[in-house]
Amino acid sequence: MSFERLGLVAPLVRAVAEAGYREPTPIQLAAIGPALAGRDIVGCAQTGTGKTAAFALPVLQRLDASAENDPKIRALVLSPTRELAAQIGECFGTYGKHLDLWHTVIFGGVAEGPQIRALREGIDILVATPGRLLDLMRRGFVDLRGVEVLVLDEADHMLDMGFLPDVKRIVAALPARRQNLLFSATMPSEIRGLAETLLRDPVNVGVEVVSKPVDQVEQRLYFVDRANKPNLLLDLLRERGVERSLVFSRTKHGANRVVQFLDKSGVRSAAIHGNKSQNARTRALDAFKRGELTVLVATDIAARGIDIDGVSHVINFDLPNIPETYVHRIGRTARAGASGIAWSMCDGDEREFLADIERLIGRRLERVDEHRFPASHAASAPAANARPGGGSSRPAPGGGAPRQRRGGGRNGGGGARRGR
Ligand code: AMP
Repeated sequence: MSFERLGLVAPLVRAVAEAGYREPTPIQLAAIGPALAGRDIVGCAQTGTGKTAAFALPVLQRLDASAENDPKIRALVLSPTRELAAQIGECFGTYGKHLDLWHTVIFGGVAEGPQIRALREGIDILVATPGRLLDLMRRGFVDLRGVEVLVLDEADHMLDMGFLPDVKRIVAALPARRQNLLFSATMPSEIRGLAETLLRDPVNVGVEVVSKPVDQVEQRLYFVDRANKPNLLLDLLRERGVERSLVFSRTKHGANRVVQFLDKSGVRSAAIHGNKSQNARTRALDAFKRGELTVLVATDIAARGIDIDGVSHVINFDLPNIPETYVHRIGRTARAGASGIAWSMCDGDEREFLADIERLIGRRLERVDEHRFPASHAASAPAANARPGGGSSRPAPGGGAPRQRRGGGRNGGGGARRGR
């Protein structure tokens, strides 16, 4: 099946061909047709499945079909994090490069001036994080009365970050008659509830089951004491074939400590997390993408949705306390069909998390016993039995995730306006 046969117009088909896409991914196959027909969509899909194009292409086509001389916001895309918002903005630029449509991205943590200017000049597509958008709406800079399409991306994550009340406030400012496209990697009951109140007779396009990690990823587990994790990390990074690795830390401080340790050991790396300025994060990501840095240390929130090609290894320096997060993390090393490798370290305190993960993915991770820093805790006991009867170590929704600042710091960037 080609993009053309999905009903996409020539300028979009040309743009995806130029982006190197040969054929639609399953989520694109399932979503693009109904979305072009104007249907509401509930898409259950992880990042890495091509879901951005699954909504961006139909949005672009719809807006292009009725574009007027003076642009006004006709599509609103809400995203939980600034990184993801920026990336979605880039995708609109890539896919829409042969169309005469304008988009901009607004998020907190950077100067609002350029964003306000772009809004004033007129845009067709607005990609925004909820906090900054609400702030600019309240101050009268954003007119959403012309919105025809609403996209909610990573709705489950918006829920985790406590954004749901903001999302509801934003939705209340939109025209009632509109197309809604909702994407979420998981479908907790709150998201189902939101979908029911927002969507009209939606088409369900659940192509990816979150409990099934990307099959091509080779997964291994190292039992190790906490104090030895940095040394083991160093050994792992020196293994053959480790070209570009994304190291996950549960906390921002942990991420900083890993970077400091690697630095002292002569390995160049950078951390991305919520305490870093947007500019620092962008710089780190760019250096990583260009290959100047071979190791990027990230927290889950900062890494969520970031699209980095060619990550050879995901290394879980800490196991995540939410098992679905493990699936998200390892998905970063097998994007759009390429295979990858995910190694995880587990100390004695993390065995419960391991049990949750193995229960979710329905298999036991392959243990590596041969390494220089074997754990003092009972490494070979089957972790999946560690918590008989189950129960989850998940925190309550909304816990833990830093909320984006509304008024925002002021350090430039954002708001670039682009079109043809
Ligand atoms: P996403 O899930 O939207 O973050 O996309 C993940 C990655 O897959 C991005 O690097 C996209 O550029 C890429 N991608 C999206 N659709 C396709 C496709 N049909 N063929 C090849 N790569 C794709």
